[in-house]
Amino acid sequence: MVPTIKLNDGVEIPQLGFGVFQIEPGQVAEKVKAALDIGYRHIDTAQMYENEEGVGKAIADSGIPRDELFVTTKLNNDGHSRDLAAKKLDESLDRLGLEHVDLYLIHWPQPTQNRYVETWQGFEDAKKAGKTRSIGVSNFNPEHLDRLAKETSTVPSVNQIEVHPHLIQAALREYNSNHGIATEAWSPIGQGKGLLEEEAIATIAQRIGKTPAQVVLRWHIQHGNIVFPKSNTPSRIEENFKIFDFELTGDDVASIDRMNADARIGPNPNDFG
Ligand code: NAD
Repeated sequence: MVPTIKLNDGVEIPQLGFGVFQIEPGQVAEKVKAALDIGYRHIDTAQMYENEEGVGKAIADSGIPRDELFVTTKLNNDGHSRDLAAKKLDESLDRLGLEHVDLYLIHWPQPTQNRYVETWQGFEDAKKAGKTRSIGVSNFNPEHLDRLAKETSTVPSVNQIEVHPHLIQAALREYNSNHGIATEAWSPIGQGKGLLEEEAIATIAQRIGKTPAQVVLRWHIQHGNIVFPKSNTPSRIEENFKIFDFELTGDDVASIDRMNADARIGPNPNDFG
């Protein structure tokens, strides 16, 4: 059973979901079906991933009641304005075949464009119109969040940021938590490259009889992060779901924390978009 986290607007989000970044549009329906069959009920997509239609098809075919699913999408970087934020959500809803999403995120702050505050006002409009249950941001630094707090009336429910053992983001996670913002961790297993072979992870995995991916995902869960690992492989989609029948010790968590190298996979949010 996947636990839920209560967001600052009262909405409950499953702490584990399925991410669909870099899943081919023609394959995504099959992969999301596999995830739903295993028991995932939270799907993380984005306009930028160009696969919302397939996500919607899998949801429609599944017959799972809408209120048992949690669907997130994100505004594309070419949509930073109050009007476009709402218009592009309508287009996402058409592609997804849904009346509303559960969470709508500003994908990147694009501070050089300096339009994320007015874009956020469009997000407030979309929430009022019932097109999304919650609104949040992604890749926002404290200075971007501080501006939203000063210039608008809604605190984001989540901040989706890059977090994995090579980039533990202690300060930004603490900022989020001090402001009532839940942290979602993107690329939670570091896109699988290198990280999962590291000795510190392998030692724990061998001792407790779990896989490296399960150890890293469990580390996130014990930090209170929301995660949605991506995989195209049904056996791995299932492996990544089985992280609620064991616990890491405090020492295990601390030893993974010590792997931090402030090493990003993705771009610095101040320079992207
Ligand atoms: P991830 O950390 O989830 O890694 C996925 C990769 O790890 C897979 O492609 C596969 O190669 C490998 N893998 C998966 N399960 C494995 C297992 N059990 N054992 C060994 N290897 C395994 O990376 P991600 O897809 O970048 O991130 C997850 C999700 O986060 C995305 O799908 C997307 O929804 C979201 N995301 C958001 C942003 C953003 O800017 N907001 C950026 C990147 C990703």
